[in-house]
Amino acid sequence: MDKQQPARDLSKNDTEPKVVRLTPAASEMEFQQLVRRMLELLGEEPERDGLARTPARVESAFRWLTRGYNDSVPDIVREAIFEEPHDSMIMVRDIEVYSMCEHHLLPFFGKAHVAYLPNGKIVGLSKIPRVVDVFARRLQLQERLTDQVADALVEVLEPRGVGVVIEAYHLCMMMRGVEKQHSKTVTSALRGSFLDDKTRDEFLRLAHGGSWLE
Ligand SMILES: [Zn+2]
Repeated sequence: MDKQQPARDLSKNDTEPKVVRLTPAASEMEFQQLVRRMLELLGEEPERDGLARTPARVESAFRWLTRGYNDSVPDIVREAIFEEPHDSMIMVRDIEVYSMCEHHLLPFFGKAHVAYLPNGKIVGLSKIPRVVDVFARRLQLQERLTDQVADALVEVLEPRGVGVVIEAYHLCMMMRGVEKQHSKTVTSALRGSFLDDKTRDEFLRLAHGGSWLE
C-alpha cells in the first residue's frame, strides 16, 4: 500500500492532532513491546538469546535514524552564516546520505550534491552535510528530501539560486520482489537562478562529474 498521503511538516512540533506524547520512559517501553510483538507475529521467539535484547536495540536504532525530527536548520546554521561578496557557484559534492523510506521503513542511501549561488551570504561548508542530515534522519521519500534541502537553503541563505541532486539506492527495491539491484534513483531540485539553462547546465555537469549526458 504505497498510497501517497499529503506530507506532514514534521519540522514543527505544533498542532499535530495525533502526536503521541508519552514520557520518554513510557515511550521507550511501549516501542520495545511493539517490536517484541512484531517478532512474535513473524513467527519468532522474542525470548531466545539472540533476540532478547533486540527490541531495545531496534528502539535505540530508530531513535537515532529519526533524530532529524528534533533538529532545525536555522539552529544548525545560525552561527555559521557570513556576509561575503563571493558570487560564483559554491558546491559540496558527494555528501553521504542515509535515510529511511517511509513506505517500507527500509534504508535508502547514496550521495547528495548541493550547490548555491550566494547573494551576499555564505554558510560554513561543513554545515551543508548537516542540513542534509536534518531531513535525511526522518522517514522520507527521496523526492521530498531533495526538495526540503533546497527549500531550507533558500530560506536561510536567500541566495540567487540553489541546486540539489540526490542519487540513491533503495533497499526496498533491491531486496524485495523486483530485485533491481543496480538501479539508482536520481532526483533533483532547482530553485531561483538554477532554473536558467546556463546555471543548471553548469550545476548538473559538476554534480555528475561530466557523466550526466553519457
Ligand atoms: Zn520503500
